[in-house]
Amino acid sequence: MPDLPPNLPGRGCRQCGTELVPRMLACPACGALVHADELKRLASAAQQAAPAEALALWRQAMALLPPDAGQAAIIAGKIDALSRAVEGSPGTAKGAAPKNARGWKGLAAGGSVVLLMLAKFKTLILFALGQGKLLLLGLTKMGTLLSMFASFGLYWSLYGWKFAAGLILSIYVHEMGHVFMLRRLGLGASVPMFIPGLGALIRLKQQYMTPREDARIGLAGPIWGLGGAVFAAVLGLAFHSQVLLVIAQWGAWINLFNLVPVWSLDGARGFHALRRRERIVAAVAFAAAWIPAGPGVALLAGAAGVYGILQRNEPPATDRRAFVEYLALCAALAAFHWLPVDPPTRTAPPPQVALAAGMPR
Ligand SMILES: [Zn+2]
Ligand SMILES: [Zn+2]
Repeated sequence: MPDLPPNLPGRGCRQCGTELVPRMLACPACGALVHADELKRLASAAQQAAPAEALALWRQAMALLPPDAGQAAIIAGKIDALSRAVEGSPGTAKGAAPKNARGWKGLAAGGSVVLLMLAKFKTLILFALGQGKLLLLGLTKMGTLLSMFASFGLYWSLYGWKFAAGLILSIYVHEMGHVFMLRRLGLGASVPMFIPGLGALIRLKQQYMTPREDARIGLAGPIWGLGGAVFAAVLGLAFHSQVLLVIAQWGAWINLFNLVPVWSLDGARGFHALRRRERIVAAVAFAAAWIPAGPGVALLAGAAGVYGILQRNEPPATDRRAFVEYLALCAALAAFHWLPVDPPTRTAPPPQVALAAGMPR
């Protein structure tokens, strides 16, 4: 929960004196807003702030408003407009959101998806090279480092130190993708914490966000993760290193696994911005991406896809960028099944979740 100023029991409504229960946002009798003063302060601060900061301030205001208040709809509009503006701001992966993108039918028609993917790859690599500072950010936090070492120890005992290091780095890069997007959108989040044997997570303050933002944040993890896997694969191919190739493949599997549209895994966040028919296409792509791993795995993936399709949190319209990102991720990550990895080293790590937890769905 956001840090609400506590309405102490016995505190009355300033307008009509009705007693207010803690965490009540409006007076049940007269409808007066409990946090009217704080809301005014936030609004005036937001009006003068730069877009990313204003976004954060409007989200704080949103948390102090009852969802059915008239102001809530207005502020929701401001948040949406600001976050779209922030997304298009210089420094974003350019060309990632083409304004003249075709409809989903056109995109689903094979070729254009691949082209978009390739175009995206180049910007991704250039972009990742510019994000070195952010990548190091988490490493300055003791909690991240300690949990990282604990995970490292466990994976080392299971797979040896080289694979353990690769596994940890793959998960870390994925998490920093989430952190990057959260910061861009003016949302607060913790640094990544590792859970030995399970993966890692970042905790989010519960804040208002649109389905589009939910998808951006969710898919940013696998997009960065894909970047990391490509990096490892390129090095592995260049230096004929089986270790690096296996790490690349493991990294790809972890990221593909996290596209599963269930619970609050990244895939579910992506699906949050899709209408049902796009969810069907995405679920098919997700299941197909697992076919090389065997029919049983693909069937499981398909079942998870059906679950994702049936979720009731359909937005009013599909976000095209989320749709393209999801399909491109499925295709690109599936390609790692065919990396030339020697059979004896093919044992896969257990699925690792690398998620952003604690957000309202
Ligand atoms: Zn009142
Ligand atoms: Zn994730």
